[in-house]
Amino acid sequence: MSEINSVNIEEFFGKNVFTLGKMRERLPRNVFKEVQKVMDEGGELSKTSADVVAKAMKDWAVENGATHYTHWFQPLTGITAEKHDSFITHPDEEGRTLLEFSGKELIKGEPDASSFPSGGLRATFEARGYTAWDITSPAFLKEDATGRILCIPTAFCAYTGEALDKKTPLLRSEEALSTQALRILRLFGNTTAKKVTPSVGIEQEYFLIDREKYLKREDLIFAGRTLFGAPAPKGQEMDDHYFGAIRERIGAYMKDLNQELWKLGVPAKTQHNEVAPAQHELAPIYESGNVAVDHNQLVMETMKKVAGRHGLMCLLHEKPFAGVNGSGKHDNWSIVSDDGINMLDPGLTPNANIQFLLVLACIIKAVDTHAALLRQSAADVGNDHRLGANEAPPAIISVFLGDQLEDVVRQLVSTGEAKKSKKSGKLMTGVSTLPDLERDATDRNRTSPFAFTGNKFEFRMVGSADSVAGPNTTLNAIVAEAFCEAADELEAAEDFELAVHDMIKEYFTEHQRIIFNGDGYSESWIKEAQKRGLPNISSMVASVEALLDADAVKMFEKFKIFTKAELASRAEILYETYSKSINIEAHTMMDMTGKQILPTVMRYAGRLAKDAKDVREAGGDDYVLSLSLRQCTSSIKKVQEAYDRLKDDVQTAAAIADKKEQAVYYRDVVCADMSALRAPADALEMMVDKELWPFPTYGDLLFEV
Ligand code: ADP
Ligand code: MG
Repeated sequence: MSEINSVNIEEFFGKNVFTLGKMRERLPRNVFKEVQKVMDEGGELSKTSADVVAKAMKDWAVENGATHYTHWFQPLTGITAEKHDSFITHPDEEGRTLLEFSGKELIKGEPDASSFPSGGLRATFEARGYTAWDITSPAFLKEDATGRILCIPTAFCAYTGEALDKKTPLLRSEEALSTQALRILRLFGNTTAKKVTPSVGIEQEYFLIDREKYLKREDLIFAGRTLFGAPAPKGQEMDDHYFGAIRERIGAYMKDLNQELWKLGVPAKTQHNEVAPAQHELAPIYESGNVAVDHNQLVMETMKKVAGRHGLMCLLHEKPFAGVNGSGKHDNWSIVSDDGINMLDPGLTPNANIQFLLVLACIIKAVDTHAALLRQSAADVGNDHRLGANEAPPAIISVFLGDQLEDVVRQLVSTGEAKKSKKSGKLMTGVSTLPDLERDATDRNRTSPFAFTGNKFEFRMVGSADSVAGPNTTLNAIVAEAFCEAADELEAAEDFELAVHDMIKEYFTEHQRIIFNGDGYSESWIKEAQKRGLPNISSMVASVEALLDADAVKMFEKFKIFTKAELASRAEILYETYSKSINIEAHTMMDMTGKQILPTVMRYAGRLAKDAKDVREAGGDDYVLSLSLRQCTSSIKKVQEAYDRLKDDVQTAAAIADKKEQAVYYRDVVCADMSALRAPADALEMMVDKELWPFPTYGDLLFEV
């Protein structure tokens, strides 16, 4: 019986986390107070307090079986990094060792950082990189084959102070947002709030497939997605997987996954089957932004780890299978003050809630002004297969407000005043035994990339494998800027009431083009968006420029989130990452073609030829055999031609020195070659004897988990 059945979840939850509660228990009062103060207000712990915290942390970790600690950080690879050090010290004369962990070791680390991407920020000979303790995200114990490791969430910076990771800019953006949001709250008379924090809840999609089958496909192993594969006879057309009953094997996996996540303090809450066969989703309860971002990394890591125990493989790639839905994550985001105000809560009558309307107007303005930048924040290699491809939100950023708010905005824009709010009313179920439900004032819109959902925005563009640090950093930054501009003007206004009314009207009027409540997947929207002048950026490579746009640089520098050099380095890393990923995919395809597909189909063609000849000689009708042979050899020829072209073009690509030019070449030429190779190979899969096909098919992978 698993632990979860015998242990009270309340006791179980956060078992492997050095929580605030544990610190309160284990630290002297004054030290605990100091920790709390630094958490809330920033600053640094004194050296003596840091030593006390480190010792308490180590004692707790060791009591719970830990032997090592690590500074856990998020370099620009998009995943997490760790280097383990044990707690042991130099043995004494009698050969005994003491376990030690100092404040200095807690606060600062120095991993040799030369092999992490820096985009030219740090030459290899200046390999110094520092990790610095992020006191706002709790330390935790990770259990794996290496034992139990005390993980200390840290930021990662170069010797010169430039950020080399995803956490540093995120923390900077949260500070900027807090400062500017407080100015807005003060304008409306709030005197109690000291801090404003984004609340973030990440819905994570993933695929589970059988591990044995996974291991038979090089494309899944090297690229995380299938590069070949004819469609299975059945796809997702019956809608029978979405919210369907969860199969035994998957259920056991989910149970185990929840248990591991709860121990790590991740509030895993919702689980269900998704649209595509073999696709599932997990959503935790929202948390403070920085912690939610760390936790999403743990969710992804744990999903993969637990899969191994169940003979499964977890695919986090945005598009593991052509022709069925890909995976993303929804970044649910709101802004909450430490005195409990959700600035995105409209209340019952949003027309009267001037503060809410101002906040909304600022967000609309921010998203419209920086649409390209927000789109960029959700770009990653795998997401190119989703965005704009009729399943995920389109590549065009727009904002969905819903009937009620759209109506309020319409009144404001046309008359300068909103006199009433549409009421939500009751939803009559028409069944006497069922209660009539209070209907939400706003229906859902699944096609919008940025949708208002009651008291939060839901940014739906992010890729399933991507870190959510980037999207949240951008979102915090652009909204901080809009708040700042509004506060600058309103603080100086003589008549606040009048000024705020004018501002709300002005913002909504000027930026109403970004609001769209219709079907984001439709052709007509693409045309309409173009008419409105909204950017439609169809690829990751094309999105990178937004980072270096003058307005973006100005904003990021103003709020000290990124320097221009940091942005340039990130742009370079994105181009490089794209080229490297496509290069791996291309080589994997060539490998599979040369070593598996061509040998198989040539053998099969030989067999057809022989059979045709035998049948003919025996006086039979060889019509079908000869026809199959011709079709087969014609496709084989196409495979060979496409293979040759891909090989040449990959060589050309590798020789291009300029990073951007190289990425563009991979996108435009190499990707096209890959599609040209895939088509005849998939056609051959449909012709060749299933017994001979060298790797598991879509049917095997998606329906036999
Ligand atoms: P959906 O219908 O899209 O699945 P849910 O209401 O289940 O939406 O919430 C999805 C995610 O949004 C969850 O992680 C949830 O905790 C989070 N969430 C709910 N309210 C807020 C909020 N005010 N701010 C941020 N995230 C929130
Ligand atoms: Mg959602």
